[in-house]
Amino acid sequence: MTSLNKVFADLPVTIFEAMSQAARDNNAINLGQGFPDGPGPEDIRRAAADAVLNGYNQYPSMMGIPELRQAIAAHYRHWHRLDLDPMTEVMVTSGGTEALTSAILAVVESGDEVIVFQPVYDSYLPIIRQAGGIPRLLRLEPPHWRLSEEMLKSAFTAKTKAVLFNNPLNPAAVVYPREDLELLARYCQEFDAIAICDEVWEHVVFDGREHIPLITIPGMRDRTIKVGSAGKIFSLTGWKIGFVCAAPALLRVAAKVHQFLTFTTAPNLQAAVAYGLGKPDDYFHDMRKDLARSRDRLTAGLERIGFPVLKSQGTYFLTVDLSPLKLNETDLAFCKRIVTDYKVAAIPVSAFYEKDPVTTVVRFCFAKNDATLDAALERLSDAVHRR
Ligand code: PMP
Repeated sequence: MTSLNKVFADLPVTIFEAMSQAARDNNAINLGQGFPDGPGPEDIRRAAADAVLNGYNQYPSMMGIPELRQAIAAHYRHWHRLDLDPMTEVMVTSGGTEALTSAILAVVESGDEVIVFQPVYDSYLPIIRQAGGIPRLLRLEPPHWRLSEEMLKSAFTAKTKAVLFNNPLNPAAVVYPREDLELLARYCQEFDAIAICDEVWEHVVFDGREHIPLITIPGMRDRTIKVGSAGKIFSLTGWKIGFVCAAPALLRVAAKVHQFLTFTTAPNLQAAVAYGLGKPDDYFHDMRKDLARSRDRLTAGLERIGFPVLKSQGTYFLTVDLSPLKLNETDLAFCKRIVTDYKVAAIPVSAFYEKDPVTTVVRFCFAKNDATLDAALERLSDAVHRR
């Protein structure tokens, strides 16, 4: 057969799918893939049901229904004092993944260098490569996963077109402080680079931490493409409603990509998300508190067993550093062993690296009900030793 597109033909099945399959095969508790086991907020689901039954169900506006674009602008004005024009600076997409693809294809051309931090979310590199871009991979490391001047200095050049930055960072569960954002912003400005900032976890931050959108850092307003996802904001990961926010000159081109990727997104779900974004602050604070409580439950249980937990600052995930345990196995071997021997699935963080992986860190999802977490802990009670 004739050869197919190598960017995609040679890709392995994602680790999330592989571990979820291993979980099914072994009848394991799945703390691998990141989705909550609750049904999601009932009022938002009712708003969607109402929109299906009584609302508009034909093609909506390509840029998203006006109520949602206005709600996104109002939401960010309220939470971050970010002023966006809903008509020229906000677009609705089918999930954060499509938002990222629209942003990357809008910016990157053949030969452009794109700085990407590892651990890297798996959709970025294939799309950069499909656009002809050349990823420049930087390596973040545990336990802090912070940016450094040295690392940025080694990567930014006259050929740098863009930087892709994920904050809060999945899988490391870091919420970046202003200092790191200012450092990155300084390099973007000095080298005239566009920042594509994946902020799908923006609301899932703990312990009073504040998420700071990169677009609000001085000098970044016109060179940042901000990506969001209602799936993460409302614990409804299957809904796949994403947002792109950017200055008109950037958004205009991202919209040209979106028009041929999906063109539109289910209008009824958009209407429900518009309703959800207007919920009072308490909803968001309570969601954070609930998730932080689950994080603490899993952290305490893993620590009791003897796992060194790297404290999670945000996202649905926490990570465990295996190195002090002297198990003499990689994160991947550990994950394969616990899914078969203990019937708990987790994700090896090395899967988020293409080059020079960190091989000692494992990610667990804690966005689960107490009974699920307790059952997983019970099964893992002896897993710090090798049987
Ligand atoms: N970026 C990151 C860092 C994510 O963790 C995810 C979801 N796991 C996405 C993007 C994709 O978001 P969506 O499901 O809205 O496409």
